[in-house]
Amino acid sequence: MTEQQTALDVALEQLRIVSEKINLDPGIHEFLKHPKRTIIVSVPVRRDDGSINIFMGCRVQHNDARGPYKGGIRYHPNVTVDEITALSMWMTWKCAVVDIPYGGAKGGVACNPKELSLKELEGITRRFTTTLFAEIGPYKDVPAPDVYTDSQTMAWIMDTYSQYMGYRVPEVVTGKPIIVGGSEGRSEATSLGVVFCIREAAKKLGMKLKGSSVAVQGFGNVGWNAADILHHMGCKIVAVSDTKGGIFNLNGFNPRKVFEHKEKSGSVVGFSGSKDVSNQELLELNCDILVPAALEGQITKANANEIKAKLIAEGANGPTTPEADRVFEEKDIFLIPDILANSGGVASSYFEWVQNLTREHWTAQEGNKKLEVKMVKAFNDCYDISKKQKTNMRNGALILGVGRVAEAIRTLGFWP
Ligand code: NAD
Repeated sequence: MTEQQTALDVALEQLRIVSEKINLDPGIHEFLKHPKRTIIVSVPVRRDDGSINIFMGCRVQHNDARGPYKGGIRYHPNVTVDEITALSMWMTWKCAVVDIPYGGAKGGVACNPKELSLKELEGITRRFTTTLFAEIGPYKDVPAPDVYTDSQTMAWIMDTYSQYMGYRVPEVVTGKPIIVGGSEGRSEATSLGVVFCIREAAKKLGMKLKGSSVAVQGFGNVGWNAADILHHMGCKIVAVSDTKGGIFNLNGFNPRKVFEHKEKSGSVVGFSGSKDVSNQELLELNCDILVPAALEGQITKANANEIKAKLIAEGANGPTTPEADRVFEEKDIFLIPDILANSGGVASSYFEWVQNLTREHWTAQEGNKKLEVKMVKAFNDCYDISKKQKTNMRNGALILGVGRVAEAIRTLGFWP
């Protein structure tokens, strides 16, 4: 985010815009501006050299009108309670948009995983889980991976929680390794959902995907898998990036080869036959499709006018500010917002939870088919609203998501 506009400012501004559009009861608007519960904890960890470090951790439970809280856990040095609050609000709308019976939450630990050993990360994860033990649970709050956490992190959370309960509770987290109750296809699900949305948008725009050029910012779980799937569909992946910088090749790369290069060297930078570009330049490249899949606040008033892509699919949460949204609307750039575009991750997490609760195990094909049905329906619901209300896709998705949450709140009432 810019210094002036934090992720929370953006989330609140989006809520204000949509509340106006749907004539939301001012009391419900006020209620939705605040999370139901914010838990801030300190996470002490003994480092490998024997010293003790204390990290700030938090879990923000925004709203549970539609079901148990659901949301990822992020490990990043810039984690703040405000950032996690914004992300928890977006989770509430997202679960409603893709129509799964969850509320919204998010968690984080302000640490730099790149400077921590595996043992230290395990220590942080198990201590964080212990501290949150009373607040999470399969019917209460179900965490998942996010930036710099992965299936191993989820296995540690599940094991710690299960040790306390005295029996295995796989349904307490999603995004686990398959061997301990994970779902086939979960690690690619967010990206597959992004691609289903891109495919549906291309149909609406009369755009041919085969041969389209794509730039992807962020080459982690979401970015790399999206690049790989789009490459297999015949798109040309012309640019990708990570924290160290970006690479560009007009003729396109094979993302799998870039992945292998990153595995060996630690970055996409230096991939053979590529030209270096900065993360900023990547966003402004002359390409058909742009997938921001890194962090919040990447596309603002300052660079929105320079963006040339015809279609933007937000793999990341909160990459675009409301001012940049307005620029895209004026320039007729079609943007698929985060709460729709990356909702395949939480939809697939929901499938994992259902399988855990019923002790079933679906094939990847079964899961992907169900995911496609959910994503196509969510995309078309948002699209139809945006057309009917003569607004952009962000507002279409927010009208659907916030509207469903508000309706649930009204139906449940305020008690006592
Ligand atoms: P990840 O940790 O796997 O990868 C993050 C990637 O972004 C890394 O390649 C990192 O180098 C890169 N990156 C970080 N800061 C950057 C910057 N300033 N510029 C360019 N690249 C940068 O994380 P992820 O799970 O892929 O998550 C990425 C985004 O997608 C986040 O916004 C996350 O909240 C969102 N998201 C993830 C999921 C999921 O299932 N993992 C689901 C929904 C949304």
